[in-house]
Amino acid sequence: MVKAIFLSKHEDALRAEVRELSAQEFPPAEVRLRVEYSSLNYKDALAIVKGEPVVRQWPMVPGIDGVGVVEESSNPDLKAGQRVVLNGWGVGERHWGCLAQYAGAKADWLVSLPASLDARDAMALGTAGYTAMLCVLKLEKHGVKPSDGEVLVTGAAGGVGSVAIALLARRGFNVVASTGRSEETPYLEKLGALRVIDRKALSERGKPLEKETWAAVVDSVGSHTLANACASTRYGGIVAACGLAQGMDLAMTVAPFILRGVTLAGVDSVMAPLAVRRTAWQCLADEIDRELLRVISREVGLQEAIAVAPRLLAGQVRGRIIVDVNA
Ligand code: NDP
Repeated sequence: MVKAIFLSKHEDALRAEVRELSAQEFPPAEVRLRVEYSSLNYKDALAIVKGEPVVRQWPMVPGIDGVGVVEESSNPDLKAGQRVVLNGWGVGERHWGCLAQYAGAKADWLVSLPASLDARDAMALGTAGYTAMLCVLKLEKHGVKPSDGEVLVTGAAGGVGSVAIALLARRGFNVVASTGRSEETPYLEKLGALRVIDRKALSERGKPLEKETWAAVVDSVGSHTLANACASTRYGGIVAACGLAQGMDLAMTVAPFILRGVTLAGVDSVMAPLAVRRTAWQCLADEIDRELLRVISREVGLQEAIAVAPRLLAGQVRGRIIVDVNA
């Protein structure tokens, strides 16, 4: 029997519970993984608390990411005993996910975990950390250098924001953290933020162009915050947009793009090709400060993950939640 968070619908009411499932109840899969750790991302919290729009099939085992060991594989490229990361590809949305002791996957969804990154640290990063790295790689590809000026990180005390700050500071950037939680200033400074600003400065509808301030931006918030970030990015700068914590809407003008040559770069983690994933996970393994990962993350079991989910959606969770699926 396998322990899993199980989401089901009963006359339109969502039930989220930890259940014991037999291996036969899981859909057939090319690769069977023994999951070691998963994590609680924004999307997982949405799935557990609201179901839609994340869950596309019922019933569902949520969990958009996990790390584990291959137990059985019908693909010759993947051998039993290999430690792999599974994230995205609709896992935890359309396909049963990793908030369970067992997960099934297609072989070409899986990335070998870099040898220097242990399983727990991989899920301290999880999809949020990997997405933060995808954003940093966009900035790098654009040619942004530390000498170009300050880099803004929005949603700073959240999962993507926390890891983005740590990664950018490590690369020598002067990072400015935007947060609604001023009490987290010592935490954000510990991660490497040079200064902290109140997110209110960005969260209301602003002007088409604001003072040129940021060389680049990593935004996990969307809505007016993203519009204002673009409006205050310096000539030729870049804004990497990956999230919608404030909202999915985006009301702005083309002024930053046509008058300042600002680039708005979309970042998607779910369908990112394997080569991009391998690069991102290797860069994370090479660059992330393991001590800071202890500061960023805390660990819960499956039952507590259900309890924490509403707090994560309410923006009350700091950093990252690792889920020990065997606890
Ligand atoms: P978290 O909940 O950990 O962090 C989000 C942060 O956004 C909060 O901690 C808070 O930071 C800030 N925030 C929350 N509500 C508001 C609001 N109303 N206005 C302004 N800021 C707000 O989530 P994650 O970091 O895991 O994910 C962040 C976003 O990125 C989510 O929308 C998620 O769906 C998206 N995402 C997208 C991916 C992709 O593939 N494109 C992959 C991973 C995540 P603070 O308290 O510091 O202000």
